[in-house]
Amino acid sequence: MGLSMSQWDDLDEHDRAYALALDLVDAEDAAGRCTCCGGVAAECQNPDNQHAYVVTFRRCFRTLAVMEAEEKRRGKDGLGDMKGVLTVVRLDPALKKSATRPQSAK
Ligand SMILES: [Zn+2]
Repeated sequence: MGLSMSQWDDLDEHDRAYALALDLVDAEDAAGRCTCCGGVAAECQNPDNQHAYVVTFRRCFRTLAVMEAEEKRRGKDGLGDMKGVLTVVRLDPALKKSATRPQSAK
């Protein structure tokens, strides 16, 4: 972006974030990456590919568990305190479906 150090120092937090974002966009452009999706621009911006993308969905159960725990903590009124709360997630093998379902006889 070409700012001097004193120009940089004069920027407020919002303008610095904006300037850094512009640098990121320039860097993505220079690398041939799409600034919208992060993919290869020559591919995702090629009109020939307009209807060629097949989208599938997968569910992240770790994210789901975090979202549900945060909703529960906030409560029905949504006012539960989340300030300063760190989210720590661990996978408990004893709670896996495969560990809690009765084993079928073979
Ligand atoms: Zn793209």
